[in-house]
Amino acid sequence: MIETNLQGIASMCGGELLPNQDEKLLIAGVSTDSRQIVQGGLFVPLVGDRFDGHAYVEQAIADGAHAALWQQDHPLPKTSLPLILVEDTLEALQQLASSYIRTLPVKVVAVTGSNGKTTTKDLIASVLSRTFRVHKTDGNFNNHIGLPLTVLRMPKDTDIAVLEMGMSSRGEIELLTKLVHPDVAVITNVGEAHLLQLGSREEIARAKMEIISGLKPDGILICHGDEPLLAQVFQEEQTEKPERMSVVTFGFGVQCDYRPEGIMQHEDGMSFTVANETLGTNVYSIPLLGKHNVLNSLAALAVGRLFRVPEPMISAAMSSASISGMRIEKTITKDGWILLNDAYNASPTAMKAALDVLASVRGGKRIAILGDMLELGPREEELHEEVGSGILPDTLDVLLTYGKLGASIAKGALHQLASEAVHSFQDKNELRDYLQSLVNPGDTVLLKASRGMKLEEIVEPWISTK
Ligand code: ATP
Ligand code: MG
Repeated sequence: MIETNLQGIASMCGGELLPNQDEKLLIAGVSTDSRQIVQGGLFVPLVGDRFDGHAYVEQAIADGAHAALWQQDHPLPKTSLPLILVEDTLEALQQLASSYIRTLPVKVVAVTGSNGKTTTKDLIASVLSRTFRVHKTDGNFNNHIGLPLTVLRMPKDTDIAVLEMGMSSRGEIELLTKLVHPDVAVITNVGEAHLLQLGSREEIARAKMEIISGLKPDGILICHGDEPLLAQVFQEEQTEKPERMSVVTFGFGVQCDYRPEGIMQHEDGMSFTVANETLGTNVYSIPLLGKHNVLNSLAALAVGRLFRVPEPMISAAMSSASISGMRIEKTITKDGWILLNDAYNASPTAMKAALDVLASVRGGKRIAILGDMLELGPREEELHEEVGSGILPDTLDVLLTYGKLGASIAKGALHQLASEAVHSFQDKNELRDYLQSLVNPGDTVLLKASRGMKLEEIVEPWISTK
């Protein structure tokens, strides 16, 4: 983590140390949460809509922080404290992270995309960890606050940082990429998440492509080669493209540099092969379900090859990779049926990917519980109906929907499925009772909706809490 003296912090973040402070005071680490102070570290009070961190500065220092930033437009506290005055505490936090990473000889791999960022980031880190000291984004710490904090926590001897970059509107990825100047940028895909804020899939593609504006001059872009919009916006982005950058693609299409063949879905994961002129054909298996995860692991394979991780180590890393919870998490319930919990988040692309996983399950009834996908904008009902009408009769046995928009999925599904197979609910208890009457040992139940729908509450009684 960052470790320097008070004067060092002030110059790295462009701030001014209050007079009569000990310039040599050692600062190690940074926190923005007064409940999780880093002992001996710097407290950064952020100004939010509901909270203002400045109210906690005195307490943070009493609790063990060595110093704090202070935004100039706030009246100074009456007591003398080791403070660094800055124009804007959030910008200072970002500048501090940017200065810190510039002092280190670390390589940076940045990952963005509508879906699959965290999974791909975890897979990449798992592959690179076989031969390098890797620091990666913790969980989903991927925004304008999380990314600087991730950087500031990075040990000084890190070889490669694998950083997730999230966004909800234009300009956010540009800001993040220009803070860290990646050597390698990965775009997992373009979906419909944040359609509400961005208006069209093309704008979403542009927002993802912003990642190249901060790429090092000889940087490498690894992106989803099946998505025509990415190729289109890449052609159009003339201005800020690094001159010597190269592009590597992955996907199912024959035009892609990394392409999986012989994909098979097993009980607990997928296997596939990838052919390469010099390395021959290699077999990979991953403990993750779904073809979308095959794509995520191709991105990790491409990164591993770029950094020359030996082939057997790449495949070993992939087969033992672990990912964060609720991303198609498979559990055998107390009653002996199988839960595929993918209730972490949802967008049409991600929902179709999850339905694909359910479709390939063999044995028992296949039941999908689908709920609202939030933040899709004015076309939300239509997009829900489209997901429903795309469900073919031989891909599941029963569809249960929850929520107002969920009802539009059910409506769409009636174009293809028999009405006895489709039921729409507005009450979780009623849905749970219906599921109880329907489900038998050996059946498989998929849960998928936006995080805000808390769909996992429906199945709580069946999950052991020990
Ligand atoms: P967030 O925006 O919340 O950070 P994320 O981009 O990090 O999400 P993950 O957490 O890796 O994405 O995965 C979230 C869900 O997206 C998964 O549960 C799965 O349904 C879907 N998903 C993952 N990878 C892909 C992919 N390559 N294509 C389509 N859907 C995917
Ligand atoms: Mg994520």
